[in-house]
Order: sequence, then C-alpha cells, then structure tokens
Amino acid sequence: MNHRVGIIGCGQLARMMAQEGQALGLEFAFIALGKENVTCVKGLGEIVRAGEAPDPAALYQALGSPEVITTEREDVPLDLLRALEDFCPVYPRPDAVAKTQHRLREKLSLLESGIPVAPFLPAGDAHEISRAIRYLGYPAFIKACESGYDGKNQWRIDSPAQLEKIRGEIGNLPCVVEKGVPFTREVSIIGVRSASGETRTYAMAENLHVNGTLLVSRAPVPQRDDEQLDTAHRYLETLLRDWDYVGVLAMECFVTASGVLVNELAPRVHNSGHWSLGGAATSQFANHLRAILDMPLGDTHCDRPAAMVNMLGIDTAPETPNEGVWVYGKSPRPGRKLGHVLLLDEVSARLDRRVEQLLAELYPERQTRLAASA
Ligand code: ADP
Ligand code: MG
Repeated sequence: MNHRVGIIGCGQLARMMAQEGQALGLEFAFIALGKENVTCVKGLGEIVRAGEAPDPAALYQALGSPEVITTEREDVPLDLLRALEDFCPVYPRPDAVAKTQHRLREKLSLLESGIPVAPFLPAGDAHEISRAIRYLGYPAFIKACESGYDGKNQWRIDSPAQLEKIRGEIGNLPCVVEKGVPFTREVSIIGVRSASGETRTYAMAENLHVNGTLLVSRAPVPQRDDEQLDTAHRYLETLLRDWDYVGVLAMECFVTASGVLVNELAPRVHNSGHWSLGGAATSQFANHLRAILDMPLGDTHCDRPAAMVNMLGIDTAPETPNEGVWVYGKSPRPGRKLGHVLLLDEVSARLDRRVEQLLAELYPERQTRLAASA
C-alpha cells in the first residue's frame, strides 16, 4: 500500500510538496481550513474542508487515515494539531509550531538555545512600547506577537512623530519591540531532521525583500564569510536537536558586522528554499516528506549557484532564459505570490546578471537592484 500523507493547508507549499511526493510514490490528502482557497492542490489528492470545530476522528477518516500529518502553514490551530496526534504522528510537533507562532516565545526559545537575536523588549500597551523604544532607540520595529507574515502586523518606527501616528493602529496588541539592526545582508538556511534524528542543512541563501515580501533568493551566498556561515549552520542544527524537531525548519537571519542574529523561524518548507527544487540534488519538499516518514534524507548539496525569483502578481512564464518556472494556479492579484522562476549558472557573476535581466522583464517599472549587500 502507498504511504499517505495528510497536509494541513492548500497553498503553493502543499502543492509543491505533493508534486515532489508523487515521485516518491506517496499519496496525499489536504485539510482546507475555513474558507481557504484550494485551487493550488486541485487534482493532487483528496481535499477535506475543516469547519470551525472539526471532529478530529471524522477528519482523520475523511483524509483516508494518513500515516503522518504535516502542515504547510504556521498559523494552524494548535488544538487541531494536538487532537490529530491521537491518530498518527504530526510533524513538525505541535510544540515546535507553538513556539514559532508567537514572536516572544520564539525569541525566548532561541535565547534558551544560546542563539543571539536582535535586542528586544516585550510590550503590551502604548506606555510599554514608548519605554521600550526609549531604551532601544530608533529605528525600532514593533511586531505583533501573533499573526505576522510578509511584513504584516509590523511597523518600522524612525521617529517619535511616526510612533504617534501609528499608535491607534497598534492599540494594545501584545508585541515585541526590536532594535533596528544595521544588517549587511539577510540570509536564511533550511534545515531538515528526520524522525530518527538524521539531520541535514542546505546552503545558506541570501534574500532580497521588497515591501516585506521576498523577491529573490540566491544560494549559496556569494562572497561569504565562512566563519559566519559555520556559526549559522550550527545555530540551526542546535535548534533541530534541542526541539527534537522533525521535518523542515527555516531560519531567517541578519548578517551584521558583529555576527549573525536570528530574525525568525518558520516550521515548514520556506520560500527562500524554493531554489532547492532543481538547484539541489534533493529539494526541501522531498526532504521534508522523507523526514516525516522517517526515510533516509536525500543529498542537500547544491553544485552550482542557484537563484529563485518570485513572480509577484505575474502568472505567465517569462521570456528571459531560465531553468524552470513554477506557476501555482492561484487567481492573480497585485503583489500576490503566483509562481517562481529558477536560474542556475556555474558562474556566480553571470547568474547575478541573469537575475537582473529577469527582474527587468518581470518588473519593468521597479527600481529593484539585486543584492542589498552590493
Ligand atoms: P515577517 O514575518 O513579515 O517576514 P520579519 O520579522 O521577517 O517579519 O520582518 C520582515 C522584514 O523587515 C525583514 O526581512 C527585514 O528586512 C525587516 N526587519 C525586521 N526586523 C528588523 C530589525 N530588527 N532590523 C532591521 N530590519 C528588520
Ligand atoms: Mg520574515
């Protein structure tokens, strides 16, 4: 009988996981939460809609009794994850997901493992926010503890006047106030650990964001500092071990003059690891599935420089030569992640030029220069 995997969530991450899993002979079933759009996973397996308070036994049965359940999203109801554990393993473990769902808990867990983060203070009202900024200085970032992604529920504050302006918007949302970090580059690493503890990491990627959304990831990081690289890989390996983590864990970092600081974690396959689809011997999606099914992990090695460019609001393949286009089948909306493009090149500088060329085609009005670090 084929292995069956249940995935919570029906977006592009679930889609690519299932596409990669089919090559491993796996079957899939998806849980759609609330009114979630399911077009990304159409035809890739059963889709089960879970209402407000789903009966876990009925849900598990409707999924076709999968061997293991995983999630493509961070904002899953923890109750649901925990209830499903009565029927089969749920990876990543609900406890790990819980830590990453809450910025303060996440930062404290990082510090507990001896991993440095940007200076921060928790705050729960206007008074505490002001006090935190007085202490940390400008610029500061106010980030809601929960429900933040792609720059949402987060505010960069450069002056007292600006703080006054957005006060109403923030209200008494529990948040963390973070010191603005003068980073030279933003990087991320994807790590994976199997149920029996085999661990691998992918090459560190450099990430370029525009308006809080990822636009380009390049791996391996060009002109890298090997000591910093080793340190960051060690951080991720430490977390995987300390959390007894199973599956893919993504770690976003700031590289600063005084070392690497971890910014945030995602308990799932991650946009900054999409380059591994074609750019590494085994993709993050395939390795996530191998990890949760406790199969031997595949080779994460990337043998030539790779770049991934997001198609934001664009769903037609570009003309610029490339090594692969993934269109997710979502309905177009400006700025929405509708697909991505892969570029591979033996020569790093040539890859950069090709990325620039692709960006110029996809975003002709945009003044997007590659490499914030350049
Ligand atoms: P999200 O969950 O929206 O991805 P992040 O914490 O990753 O939230 O922040 C989004 C972006 O904002 C980061 O990629 C970075 O460019 C910028 N940013 C966030 N925190 C800081 C900070 N402390 N210092 C400087 N830049 C920051
Ligand atoms: Mg982020």
